[in-house]
Amino acid sequence: MRIALVGYGRMGRAVEEAARARGDEIVARLDREDRIDAAALAGAEVAIEFSVPSSAPLNLRRLAEAGVDTVSGTTGWDPAQGEVDAAVRAAGTGLLVAANFSLGVGFFHRIVREAARLAAGVPDYDVHLYEAHHRHKLDHPSGTARMLADSVVELFAGKDRWEESPPAGRPEREVVYLSVARAGEIAGTHVVSFEGPNDRVELRHEARDRGGFAVGAVEAAHWVRGRPGVHTLGDWLRDRFTDSPSP
Ligand code: NAD
Repeated sequence: MRIALVGYGRMGRAVEEAARARGDEIVARLDREDRIDAAALAGAEVAIEFSVPSSAPLNLRRLAEAGVDTVSGTTGWDPAQGEVDAAVRAAGTGLLVAANFSLGVGFFHRIVREAARLAAGVPDYDVHLYEAHHRHKLDHPSGTARMLADSVVELFAGKDRWEESPPAGRPEREVVYLSVARAGEIAGTHVVSFEGPNDRVELRHEARDRGGFAVGAVEAAHWVRGRPGVHTLGDWLRDRFTDSPSP
């Protein structure tokens, strides 16, 4: 498959390696100063976008206008999702946006959801989240932590929202607290901890490098090609983990 890379930083390069290993061809590498139009996209069948939060919405609108199906992994631009979705629907292209393309995280997310559901059956448990990433990351908490926290709030009885730690005042029982660390070159760690009166159940996912995100993004690009509409990570993973109804 012919792929255009939009954003050629750490993830763009990792995606190039994963795509080559799969036998795909990289026909364009577009970064900060490059325009995005049909000529620059050089016959790409699909685009893989990993740039910065401030540029992703415009990049995705341009890719839709150019008629190219796209996966985007850029995080931290959620408020602009509505306008991007409208442009994609108007253009009749396909778009899959996901905060985390790692299949390991897809698997982890399912385990976390099941644990949050089960916790309702054991008395006096509480829950909190922790995430750590490299010091270059621009947004916080990570898109993956937000996704996990949304699931915990949805399924853990008695919680109605999540907030980044520390609490402004006295901690509230209904809030799931999420703490963040930034240091060195950590590829991405997410921990969901269920705290009981006498014990703790801790679920942990640790990315060792960017390869897992890149392999998943390339696989998702194959999935989105020729699939018009706005798709979610769940749509892709439901096909991928065929025996699992959630999330
Ligand atoms: P990076 O800083 O290494 O690369 C970003 C690149 O985007 C840079 O080369 C920069 O020059 C380029 N850029 C800036 N403005 C641009 C524009 N207007 N058009 C095109 N390119 C532009 O960052 P990274 O580590 O590659 O991460 C990129 C994004 O992907 C971040 O938002 C990060 O949080 C996210 N991410 C997502 C996943 C996932 O699985 N979804 C995994 C890792 C990282």
